[in-house]
Amino acid sequence: MSSRLYERIKTQLDSLRKEGTYKEYQYLVSSVGGRSTIEKYGDVVMLCSNNYLGLADHSQLIEKGIEALKKYGAGAASVRFICGTYDIHRSLENKVAEFLHTEAALTYTSCWSANTAVIPALLNEGDAVISDELNHASIIDGCRLVSKGVQRLVYRHADLNSLEEKLKEVTSGGGVALIVTDGVFSMEGDIAPLPGIVELARKYDAVVMVDDSHATGVIGDTGRGTAEYYNMLGQVDIITGTFGKALGGAGGGFVAGRKEVINLCIQRSRPHLFSNSLPPVLAAIALAALEYLEEHPEKVRSLRQKVKYFREQLKKAGIAALEGDSAIIPIMIYDTAKAMRIAARMLEEGVYVVGFGYPVVPEGQARIRIQVSDALTYDDIDYSIEVLKRVLNEQK
Ligand SMILES: *Cc1c(COP(=O)(O)O)cnc(C)c1O
Repeated sequence: MSSRLYERIKTQLDSLRKEGTYKEYQYLVSSVGGRSTIEKYGDVVMLCSNNYLGLADHSQLIEKGIEALKKYGAGAASVRFICGTYDIHRSLENKVAEFLHTEAALTYTSCWSANTAVIPALLNEGDAVISDELNHASIIDGCRLVSKGVQRLVYRHADLNSLEEKLKEVTSGGGVALIVTDGVFSMEGDIAPLPGIVELARKYDAVVMVDDSHATGVIGDTGRGTAEYYNMLGQVDIITGTFGKALGGAGGGFVAGRKEVINLCIQRSRPHLFSNSLPPVLAAIALAALEYLEEHPEKVRSLRQKVKYFREQLKKAGIAALEGDSAIIPIMIYDTAKAMRIAARMLEEGVYVVGFGYPVVPEGQARIRIQVSDALTYDDIDYSIEVLKRVLNEQK
């Protein structure tokens, strides 16, 4: 048995500790809400969950989940095409497609799976995938998995000129060009320039795929995401997303688009063919979340009001944040260790935020990321800003 590997790992971990960037878990002992209970820290304000609509502990979702658990049991014990397809998958997939104004949809166990499934399934030799440089890691990995002979290009973040340059490079060969972008960028909180992207896609006969993980349930008047935000529902070829954020937070992901795309994913995409189907209980919870959102579009407006209030109060407190229309508010700290120190101090004061540094964001771009949830009260927001201001002053 060689000890070389273990010695190397020890060196790697030690250097993370020395840099002050070693991650430690916090253990929750309650459900996630506007406030949650954390071991050692007790009751804290949650500013770092993806529970944008506060549905994670909603009674309607919990009841549907329990019902499904009793009816279907713990899980599928199979992949979809063998014996892992349940009626609740069909109901959920029909609902996703209807909600997003697409022809069809297919669920995966996560959006990570969905992204790494659909990109390699669609593209053949001679095709190209063109990806925003700040796209989510799962898109980057999806691009890495394409077969030989598929070109992979990266355009500058949200930069339409850069995108057009890449499109010019690849569309002369007659292959398919797939443009991929996050809808809402998870570390910046900004929204992809979809109208310009779709216009370029038309001009160069390309296909557009948007990952709306941080957008579904958050932006657009009724929470239908980036396409609705720009009044462009039905104009995006492929939408991927997660049920693990605004839509209940339990887990699961999806691909939505034309029937041909979905059918090809069923036939060809590897996470679909070789990995268990979405547990029926999670499908039921996701379906309940979508039904709830359809019945209560005012939740999206309420979230938007709280985001607006949060941003206004930050300005009043003299704290600069990156601008944006999503529920993500990044505050740049630049130094990773400092960002992590600030987050640790805030947690001691009862406010749970996370400092993000390299490799989650580029080197020297560390930040505190605030995620606003409709589960927060206005008092929670006021308290959070008071703590943030105090800790920023003390860590100057
Ligand atoms: C969170 C996120 C994912 C991963 O979603 P999971 O369902 O948790 O795998 C994928 N893409 C983007 C843009 C995300 O923000």
